[in-house]
Amino acid sequence: MTSPENPTIDRDVVIIGAGPSGLTAARELKKAGLSVAVVEARDRVGGRTWSNTVDGAWLEIGGQWVSPDQTALIGLLGDLGLETYSRYRDGDSVYIAPDGTRTRYTGEMFPVDADTEAEMNKLIDTLDSLAATMDPARPWEHPQARELDIISFHHWLRAQSGNEEACNNIGLFIAGGMLTKPAHAFSALQAVLMAASAGSFSNLVDDNFILDKRVIGGMQGVSLAMASELGGDVFLNSPARTVRWEKNDGGYLATVIADGVTVSAKRVVMAVPPNLYSRVSFDPPLPRRQHQMHQHQSLGFVIKVHAVYETPFWREDGLSGTGFSASSLVQEVYDNTNHDDPRGTLVGFVSDEKADYAFTLTAEQRRKEITAALAEFLGDEAAEPVAYYESDWGSEEWTRGAYASSYDLGGLHRYSADQLTPVGPIHWSCSDLAAEGYQHVDGAVRMGQDTAAKLIAELA
Ligand SMILES: Cc1cc2nc3c(=O)[nH]c(=O)nc-3n(C[C@H](O)[C@H](O)[C@H](O)COP(=O)(O)OP(=O)(O)OC[C@H]3O[C@@H](n4cnc5c(N)ncnc54)[C@H](O)[C@@H]3O)c2cc1C
Repeated sequence: MTSPENPTIDRDVVIIGAGPSGLTAARELKKAGLSVAVVEARDRVGGRTWSNTVDGAWLEIGGQWVSPDQTALIGLLGDLGLETYSRYRDGDSVYIAPDGTRTRYTGEMFPVDADTEAEMNKLIDTLDSLAATMDPARPWEHPQARELDIISFHHWLRAQSGNEEACNNIGLFIAGGMLTKPAHAFSALQAVLMAASAGSFSNLVDDNFILDKRVIGGMQGVSLAMASELGGDVFLNSPARTVRWEKNDGGYLATVIADGVTVSAKRVVMAVPPNLYSRVSFDPPLPRRQHQMHQHQSLGFVIKVHAVYETPFWREDGLSGTGFSASSLVQEVYDNTNHDDPRGTLVGFVSDEKADYAFTLTAEQRRKEITAALAEFLGDEAAEPVAYYESDWGSEEWTRGAYASSYDLGGLHRYSADQLTPVGPIHWSCSDLAAEGYQHVDGAVRMGQDTAAKLIAELA
């Protein structure tokens, strides 16, 4: 297999994927004295975290926010010498009701009628109680695991409340807002896991908590800093094509064949989201359980829309830039102005079925409809950005969706107990499999740390 174009190198551990999870694992392993190689398909590190300059505007195209409970990420930021800044949030938020009525408000509760407010509070309390009784590392052990996993979140909400506006508003925080799938496409148990992984459902409702801070220089900086420590052990433009392994002297001999490099190692870390596992050929094939399980984990889909203006004009009008509407094409909008940037940036999210619709339009028509929706929240000026960009992770070959993966209906209680079970020398590590910080960079970091700790114990 060795050739000048594809040299074979020997390492203790080979990591597939240079996102935050794979790089954290590699960094921890190397600190413990083990040798590593990270093979990365793209020509850059960072995976679903990526910054780029588009039409003169510097944008965070992927993951960016940090919340106070994300202590693994916060610790790593400190280690790497990276600083954070707060999201601008002074002033009124805007709520657009199902009938199109626009209302300014302050606080967390949407300005809805008394009955809707009471129903929303009831649903928040119920979800908080369910989340409090779930260990996010063992969702299948929840006392109501099966009952909650065989009903869609959409239908579960309607079994709790007859108030459609309340159901849609609460659904928004998990469906469009987090899993980026329609609420009928995943279970109530999956919704409870999302809440439990963030500490509570109330934390997800509180945008000041969940979207608290950003990293100066961008979240991709976390991966760039770790990759720079790893130096020549990171191989870009090297998609792993085949993972081959056999038992050897009571241990394992694994070979990862990637474009440009072949790595022989004792262990393999698959640090890619589950929807991409089947892009790699495994020899011997993965066991039946994994073959089945991986077909039930899929990425959601959301368009992150960036609109840049000469100034953050909404602030002069006393608006924070925050807006919500379950019925608008853009379900959420926030002030996303960069650190020390005189220009103003808004970020909006077009999720799941609305994203499907948006991509049936021409680019010009899509921009028109999306900026018109921003203008509904923040005024006519929002319809005329000086720079505009849509993050479209659905068309990225090495991701295929956003933000992360979740199980289909009934899959979570059926399979998740096995999702981290190693197969021979192969371990699994990504934010999509995390307990705390599930779907977030914090979860990716936690998984990288946990996987490294297991391998250090095994290989020491
Ligand atoms: C639009 C968007 C917004 C988000 N917002 C936030 C946010 O505000 N806060 C937050 O915490 N999180 C956010 N996230 C989620 C966060 O970015 C991810 O959870 C995190 O990046 C996952 O890290 P990971 O290392 O597990 O996987 P990834 O980041 O996906 O890294 C996996 C890597 O594996 C590589 N790869 C795949 N297949 C192969 C192969 N065969 N061979 C070699 N390499 C391969 C990929 O190229 C990639 O670099 C967002 C994500 C998106 C897309």
